[in-house]
Amino acid sequence: MCRNHCLSLLIYQLMDEKLREEVKAWLEFYRELGIEDFYRRDPSTVITGSANSPSKVCGSSEEGQALAADLHGRSALPAAKPTHVGTPAPAQPVAPKVLAPTPAVIHPPTPTLSLFEAPAPRRTGPETLEQIRTDLGDCHRCKLAGGRKTIVFGEGNPRAELVLVGEGPGADEDEQGRPFVGRAGQLLNRMIQTIGMKREDVYICNVVKCRPPGNRTPEKDEVEACSPFLYRQIESIKPRLVCCLGAPAVRTVLGIKEGITKIRGHFYEFASGKALATVHPAYVLRNPREEKILREDFEKIRGFLESR
Ligand code: URA
Repeated sequence: MCRNHCLSLLIYQLMDEKLREEVKAWLEFYRELGIEDFYRRDPSTVITGSANSPSKVCGSSEEGQALAADLHGRSALPAAKPTHVGTPAPAQPVAPKVLAPTPAVIHPPTPTLSLFEAPAPRRTGPETLEQIRTDLGDCHRCKLAGGRKTIVFGEGNPRAELVLVGEGPGADEDEQGRPFVGRAGQLLNRMIQTIGMKREDVYICNVVKCRPPGNRTPEKDEVEACSPFLYRQIESIKPRLVCCLGAPAVRTVLGIKEGITKIRGHFYEFASGKALATVHPAYVLRNPREEKILREDFEKIRGFLESR
């Protein structure tokens, strides 16, 4: 009798009756499936065995004893019982544990999902505006929440080349839940039209999404709470140009504290595109002679967007 055969017998004898029956049943189950050979992970040591008599075992005796001990030690495991081999119960990953890890090997078939049943792959692109809006929820991250009627998230083309950023909603915007719909909004619409665009072509939003009381300038903590959502909106849209309307937008988007009259009309590098600062339409409403400034800057916007 060869050494390997002795080992296999030893292993077999070391198994208690119950384990022996379980192993036998599983081997028969695999044989019904046409699987007769079991291989160790280490290709230099191969176990081949038929269902009833593990006939050939190659490997060191230490390994054989370890295998035997392993098998024996696992006899208390709640092993799956393929009682009816012809129609096995849905395969559980319990069975290979009887033989694993040492001789291991073939895992019972696990139910597989078709392409269309499988979970969709995770999105890897930027988040959508809808996702950002959902995340914003019924926001109470700052004190502006207490005085608002409506959150003014922003609106327009989610693939816009131009994003216009104002300061914060006024009374009309708070009422309607849309940015720039009051008098300042009408002036902004005209500017957009003068450069051959429609309001639906661009995306319009604000530094803060809730109306500051009495239309005051948003405070630092309010901007800090709200601006991450603005940045995410811009990141989602990836515009070629962000137009900052007034000083708070310039400070928030570009981090520039200088007076708007000094920096307006200039382009700055911003994210994957550029940003331009100009005066706020409400300022022009209060100072009608300054409308030419706004026009001039919108002509720059046109020139930039027409250049490729
Ligand atoms: N002023 C702004 O800054 N934003 C608006 O939405 C309306 C007026």
